[in-house]
Amino acid sequence: MSNTVPALKVLNQVFGYPTFQGIQEEIIRHVIDGGSGLVLMPTGGGKSLCYQIPALILDGITLVISPLVALMEDQVASLQELGIAANYLSSMRELDDNHGVFSQIRDRKLKLLYITPEKATNEWFINFIANYKISLIAIDEAHCVSHWGHDFRPEYQRLTLLKKVFPHTPRLALTATADYYTKVDIQHYLDLKNTPIFSTSFNRPNMYYAAHEKNNGKKQLLNYIGQHKSESGIIYCNSRKRVDQIAEFLNKSNIAATAYHAGMDSLQRSNNQKLFLQSSSMVMVATVAFGLGIDKPDVRYVYHLDMPRSIDHFYQESGRAGRDGIGAFSVVNYGFKEIFELSQMILASEASEIKKRYEFDKLKKMIAYCDSLTCRRKALLQNLGEESDDCGYCDICLGKSLTFDGSVLAQKILSTIYRLQQRFAITQVIDVLRGKASIAVQVWEHHKISTFGLASEVSEKELRRVIRQLYSQGVIDIDFSTGALKLNANSLPILRGIQPVLLRKNPNKSLELPQNSVWLKTELEERTYQNLLNWRHRMAILHKVSHHAILSDRSLRELILHRPQNVSELKDIYGIGQAKLSRFGNELIDIITLNGCV
Ligand code: ADP
Ligand code: MG
Ligand code: ZN
Repeated sequence: MSNTVPALKVLNQVFGYPTFQGIQEEIIRHVIDGGSGLVLMPTGGGKSLCYQIPALILDGITLVISPLVALMEDQVASLQELGIAANYLSSMRELDDNHGVFSQIRDRKLKLLYITPEKATNEWFINFIANYKISLIAIDEAHCVSHWGHDFRPEYQRLTLLKKVFPHTPRLALTATADYYTKVDIQHYLDLKNTPIFSTSFNRPNMYYAAHEKNNGKKQLLNYIGQHKSESGIIYCNSRKRVDQIAEFLNKSNIAATAYHAGMDSLQRSNNQKLFLQSSSMVMVATVAFGLGIDKPDVRYVYHLDMPRSIDHFYQESGRAGRDGIGAFSVVNYGFKEIFELSQMILASEASEIKKRYEFDKLKKMIAYCDSLTCRRKALLQNLGEESDDCGYCDICLGKSLTFDGSVLAQKILSTIYRLQQRFAITQVIDVLRGKASIAVQVWEHHKISTFGLASEVSEKELRRVIRQLYSQGVIDIDFSTGALKLNANSLPILRGIQPVLLRKNPNKSLELPQNSVWLKTELEERTYQNLLNWRHRMAILHKVSHHAILSDRSLRELILHRPQNVSELKDIYGIGQAKLSRFGNELIDIITLNGCV
């Protein structure tokens, strides 16, 4: 208990936050008492404080291992804004900058040192740093150790040697990927089998989930962004080419968009990333290569223009919205095309059979999420092994997506698949059902079978939707090497009329939330807010950091809502600790009390 007081004091005075979130305090206490462990918390759950606060309380340097230099830069800049002695080493930095870091270490001035896994396992570096007291080793994004995961980094596996070099130093691994295999890999490679696991619910209450069937994706996207102007968003696409095309398309449509994918050179990637991090109203169009550990709290939406290849990818990527706890959206656009493309990609990959099965399983879960008939949050959490009630505010709970009894139509489809001897792909099945005597239908004499023309009143598009839903519900199978539709054990009770089938109508309306600015109630509030934004923008440029490193959106909101009248009242504002108070206090009070004569 004795450590609770300093930990809380650091939280209040340095970070400017009133209370710990969830199990942060328990973890911090455990680490300060010399314990190691694994932390599983969703994105935005507040994992960083679990090592940053011990780092400030314990004697010596805390090493933070992080997979990407761009992330370190951003985190270190934010910590420095808080007056914390943090720095990072990188081969991409100027030699002089790195020399400066080494002097800080030698002078015993540094509290937090961010490094890559390569550096952490470099012999020279280990010999050097072993001369100093290491208080804690934090391994962030620890799922990178697992080849089951979506961000596998082989060099993470070499971190095994840290336990040998620093046998008495606590080690804390942290991740937002709680999948069973990943967990086992982390415990194995990071030697954490006999240490506790600290985990919280993976629910993100501030997220609003929705999925839309693709129907002219570009138009849907433009429409969506149009309703979310002046907000930050990430758009995920499944290929580099598409990323380039969409970014260009958006720019031509007068939307400020930048792009990120592995085909760009590293300088361009890092420039684009910086551009996005430092802006509060830009769109980032990217492939899966973007976003690992990105700490941009004000991303208001993640829009998957293409369906992700697995439910795990989806959870990670959508999780990049709303880290600041303010309402944020996740939208997926999906259709049959992606199901085929992604399945074929898995089939064509060189992975082992067991890995392919695993990937198919994750893809099927993604598809089931998109075509879910029940609460999306519930479906998502179920995949992470959590039970929950209907959330009440996803598109399905809000009734934006209505269902109908599709039993008879399903029977017609299943029966056609059966009569085509489960050897034909979707086009042939649809042509037969609609009574279209295409060449292929005539060649195979399929116009003679009994279900020919049985669903002639249903459009081709609608039949595709229905067949996709039957697949999503596990009622039919698809052989992706030939495209053939097949029956399975679940088909029979439907054909016999024992099991009804519920299908979804095509929803046209998208999920809407009050616009971001509705919380500003008076003209005075609007003006003050605008002045605060301008001030923050100037400060960010002056300090060469991102906007949120100066003050988060949540802090700005509290400034408006509480209107502190003097510096001592400012202390109670979220995110304002001692450093920010002394640096910005007077200026902020001036802006607020003079009603923004800036
Ligand atoms: P992650 O778990 O994804 O690494 P972070 O550590 O980056 O999450 O934290 C997400 C956001 O929540 C950050 O902006 C952080 O400053 C904020 N945060 C963390 N802990 C608290 C707390 N106890 N009170 C208020 N805000 C917090
Ligand atoms: Mg993190
Ligand atoms: Zn719901």
